[in-house]
Amino acid sequence: MTASIFTAIFLVALGAMLALRLWLSARQIAHVRAHRDAPPSAFAAQVGDVAHRKAADYTVAKQKLGQLEALVDTVVLLALTLGGGVALIVHATQALDIAPIVRDVLLLGVVVAIGGIASLPFSWWRTFRIEERFGFNRTTLALWLVDLAKGLAVGLVLGLPLGFLVLWLMQRAGAWWWLYAWLAWMGFQLLVLVLYPTVIAPLFNRFSPLPAGDERDRIERLLARCGFRASGLFVMDGSKRSGHGNAYFTGFGKAKRVVFFDTLLARLAPDEVEAVLAHELGHFRLRHVLKRVVWSALVSLALLALLAWLMRSPWFYRGLGMADVATALERPGIALALFMLVLPVFTFMLAPLTSAYSRRHEFEADAFAARHASAHALVAALIKLYEDNAATLTPDPLHSAFYDSHPPATVRVARLAALAPSA
Ligand SMILES: [Zn+2]
Repeated sequence: MTASIFTAIFLVALGAMLALRLWLSARQIAHVRAHRDAPPSAFAAQVGDVAHRKAADYTVAKQKLGQLEALVDTVVLLALTLGGGVALIVHATQALDIAPIVRDVLLLGVVVAIGGIASLPFSWWRTFRIEERFGFNRTTLALWLVDLAKGLAVGLVLGLPLGFLVLWLMQRAGAWWWLYAWLAWMGFQLLVLVLYPTVIAPLFNRFSPLPAGDERDRIERLLARCGFRASGLFVMDGSKRSGHGNAYFTGFGKAKRVVFFDTLLARLAPDEVEAVLAHELGHFRLRHVLKRVVWSALVSLALLALLAWLMRSPWFYRGLGMADVATALERPGIALALFMLVLPVFTFMLAPLTSAYSRRHEFEADAFAARHASAHALVAALIKLYEDNAATLTPDPLHSAFYDSHPPATVRVARLAALAPSA
């Protein structure tokens, strides 16, 4: 491999990714607009024309912003790599009179910060323009800024020690550093899993126990029926930020918690909440969560082994705009920064595979919910959630196949209807 061939491969992959992102987005906009007038017949009774049009307009607004973001992402990536951005940061940090490892942590920090700053206006626009216009936003600018500061603080507290450890291993642990780095990464993820429900999530939201009553009784009976033990049922004040509703599990082993957004409980009837929870339980019982963890562990091991090989290859640095290979071979932070930047370009084409895998799990979890709760109630809940989240009922089939972790609404509801005992 030579540097110029690698540059060419990188540019072709980047161009293909951008073209595909824009093309799929244009298809999605065209498809949603073409079906804007009325909801699909299966939904017509529950979803009115007004709600359907709102979902179409909301989808189009998000897509347009996404197109602009795809362009900006591409420009930032080119500026950092072939444009010499990383080389410039390397040069600037090289001149500082600090320990080599601190230099590399600084380099990574600056690269991550540039990406974060570039995405900030989009995040602001999404919340205060799009979500606001469609009536979902409940965040104030003050809360948004506080969230940003807290997120940054959590990122620093967790990310800095990990960064130091990985860079130290890359420098000192010899040929098998990537194996140790992988173990460190696994340990780190386990730590986040433990800290998330009890320490991290409460920094952002208030969690209160689900009040006693019919709803709680139903949920406890469902958990018992499915042989599921949770250490708590909680309600989260999701309405503090947004009108969107959700339910999820956190933690693992005996420390699992079930969390409902207050927005979800306010909107769904008790049997619908039960059906939504049964679907989530399905993900656990059918080992979807475990399978995902195993997959991501294997993928990260392979990627670290790849990085170990790339960091010894001069063409990798030169091909990405880092001409000073002697410095690059001495500072592992450079390989790590370049790798993190360009990896998404090469994994983008795998998105349809992971999406399809995830959709299969969704069908399985729906079938589980139909067995242990009510398929009718799940359909009713889904229709309310589609409407409340203004999720489009008429996605472009190709866009959906490429990106969507959940099956299109019509397909999903039709499958559930087939599983329901006819009334
Ligand atoms: Zn699911």
